[in-house]
Amino acid sequence: MIGVIWDDRFLNISFSHPMIRDIAKARIRKFRELLEGIKDEILFIKPEPAKEEDLLVVHSKEYLRKLKEASNSPYIGFLDEGDTVHYPGMFDDVLLILGGSITAIKFSSFLDFIYVPLGGFHHALPCRAMGFCPINDIAIAAKILSKTRRVAILDVDAHHGNGLQRILYSDEVLKINIFGYDGHFFPGDGKMDEIGEGKGKGLNLNIPLPRGSGDDAFAEALKVTQVLEDFRPDYLLVNAGVDGHKDDSLHFLNLSANSFNYLGQKVRRLQRELNFKVISYGGGGYGESSALCMFEYILGYLGKKDNPEEETMGNAEIVRQEVDEILKTFYSSFVKNHS
Ligand SMILES: [Zn+2]
Repeated sequence: MIGVIWDDRFLNISFSHPMIRDIAKARIRKFRELLEGIKDEILFIKPEPAKEEDLLVVHSKEYLRKLKEASNSPYIGFLDEGDTVHYPGMFDDVLLILGGSITAIKFSSFLDFIYVPLGGFHHALPCRAMGFCPINDIAIAAKILSKTRRVAILDVDAHHGNGLQRILYSDEVLKINIFGYDGHFFPGDGKMDEIGEGKGKGLNLNIPLPRGSGDDAFAEALKVTQVLEDFRPDYLLVNAGVDGHKDDSLHFLNLSANSFNYLGQKVRRLQRELNFKVISYGGGGYGESSALCMFEYILGYLGKKDNPEEETMGNAEIVRQEVDEILKTFYSSFVKNHS
């Protein structure tokens, strides 16, 4: 039995640019419909809205004031330079979204895997919104959990989780980031030599996937998760963004739905071996196939597959070399310091 955080209000929440808000909402609706096919294996959990002070775990008071002001405005506008939308009453939606993470933490004491379909806002920074993300729900969850538990994050998305990296850069939280990168593609962060600092030194692992990377490259990138065997987390937070699918409107990566099924299988296998709790997020996804990819991820975790897409190829050798270098050069500095 797995948990899925669900409230029907999710069907109407999106902070994405107006051009793609309908696509974003349709993906959540379609995903919920797909879950009906496996509903016997799911415990649907209604999120309790978060409290304002939960936001302050990561965000500044000043930014909170700005969010509330924007929410009280009768107009629709942008919180940042033109990506992340605000609309009347959005602050309540923000609290509901964050409540998903906090409710998942509570329920994780008796469920091994909980999925938050509308979550994984990994771009938001302490003082500002960014890339359709008004708050950084996953960073807040990591901060709360890491007070008493050992936490690792696997952030898989077409985009680098720059906010997450920056907020947790010097925390003793393992961060594995797998994302599309060419030096220009949003948000532009994510170089391999960004390895963390202080207590976090050696714990920030960036595995950039070149434009057009296929399922074979993605599988190579996931080999980096072997570091979890050394790190031994109590919790793995997985941002399972699906915007790297080949039909996504971004067209940066060339993954098929097989990659997301494989990701689910991989998370399950690692969990069996290392015995940690998983809280996972829907992340980004801006295409017709996004809901299907989210569903495949869940199926993969459950040891099932329902996907006729052909596997894709591209850049596996480049990514294999990256992972080798990361394991040899960067992560080894952490192992040395902690053994
Ligand atoms: Zn993304």
